[in-house]
Amino acid sequence: MTGDFVRWRETRQFYNAAPTPPAPFMTVSDPAQSVGTFPPTADAKSAMGWMHTARFLTTAAQLHQLPTVDFPEIAFVGRSNAGKSSCINTLTQQKQLAFASKKPGRTQHINLFSLGRQNTTDAVLADLPGYGYAAVSRSDKMRWQQVMVNYLVHRESLTGIVLLCDPRLGLTGLDEALLEVVRPRVEDGLKFLVLLTKADKLTRAEQTKALSIARLQTGGGEVRMFSALKKQGVDEAALLLWQWAHPQAEAGAVTPTAPAD
Ligand code: GDP
Repeated sequence: MTGDFVRWRETRQFYNAAPTPPAPFMTVSDPAQSVGTFPPTADAKSAMGWMHTARFLTTAAQLHQLPTVDFPEIAFVGRSNAGKSSCINTLTQQKQLAFASKKPGRTQHINLFSLGRQNTTDAVLADLPGYGYAAVSRSDKMRWQQVMVNYLVHRESLTGIVLLCDPRLGLTGLDEALLEVVRPRVEDGLKFLVLLTKADKLTRAEQTKALSIARLQTGGGEVRMFSALKKQGVDEAALLLWQWAHPQAEAGAVTPTAPAD
């Protein structure tokens, strides 16, 4: 894992030194497409309704091929098999949405989904390629990691990151390396949430322990349990993402239910 960590760091250094990416080929900022007004506050039910509006926007193999987005963008990252697709599908209440990202030719792509009621857009979800898949060649892994690091370091619209982690494995070296890559941006205000997936496979005591360990590993960061199978933690995650995407909304009017731990 140390080797992987070093390689992540190397790619980060490489991309920090890289020039600003070229101009994108399209911009998602048409005022007619945007929501001028949105509810000042949301409860879990309306946050879930908002998540349900997710629809495919575009896919790209490189950062510079992604459209510029003038809305908050929330990226989902995690090791391959961590439960990322199941989480996105559960949050958006759509069976196939994120599995589109698993179609041949799209697994190494960044897939964007628009969010917003009545075909308007007020936020974007980004599904990033799962990392750490053993059956991928070293050169593919390296290319893949560079695309991710480039995105995480340079994507201007990036507002928040959801890191999916299977608590039975815990945060691995690659996850920790990713935390290291985004740390400067998190210190600058980027939102960050770790969702410990497949909670249904753990007892209550194991969930409590997994939460404590992950909170220590993330330096006291936001960590919650999630189960796509049992729909655990879904409302809370949806509400938190809504709040990330609508920072102008009346602060403190609605707070997420405390996570079960
Ligand atoms: P991804 O590679 O990160 O997109 O992971 P997937 O969403 O494809 O899930 C990987 C495997 O974990 C699949 O076999 C899923 O059925 C399983 N899985 C995902 N979420 C859950 C969950 O909440 N509970 C259980 N028991 N299994 C899950």
